[in-house]
Amino acid sequence: MSEKLWYHNGLKFQCTGCGGCCTGAPGFVWVNKAEIEAMAAAIKIDVATFERRYVRQIGIRRSLTEFSNGDCVFFDAERRTCQIYEVRPRQCRTWPFWTSNLRTPQCWAAMAEHCPGANHGPVVPLSEIEARRSKLAGV
Ligand code: SF4
Repeated sequence: MSEKLWYHNGLKFQCTGCGGCCTGAPGFVWVNKAEIEAMAAAIKIDVATFERRYVRQIGIRRSLTEFSNGDCVFFDAERRTCQIYEVRPRQCRTWPFWTSNLRTPQCWAAMAEHCPGANHGPVVPLSEIEARRSKLAGV
């Protein structure tokens, strides 16, 4: 019989909109072709212009650019909100249910120290956690 995942009863999560995961230390928001096309359409510019302004090549992958302080290029610092929320990339949609955060209870706890939405709000069931996690394999 297979062992139960440590989070088989689900995990509490409700985003507070603090913007913590969109700001701060430099990082990467990986994007693919479909996501780039959706974001470009949402802000009504063509894909080539979007890529020139907002995408950087990192090896064989592509990431959104960021401001010099590390904030995501689409984070509105005044309103503390994402300017492209409806078309945000998978990496943002699936947070915090990434494999790296779910590996152990300790990994989850370490993430929760920086994400006030973790361990708060309604329980997200295992099926939903796994659905989100599988969308972002390898992160
Ligand atoms: S750090 Fe957590 S609570 Fe804050 S915006 Fe990101 S997901 Fe939401």
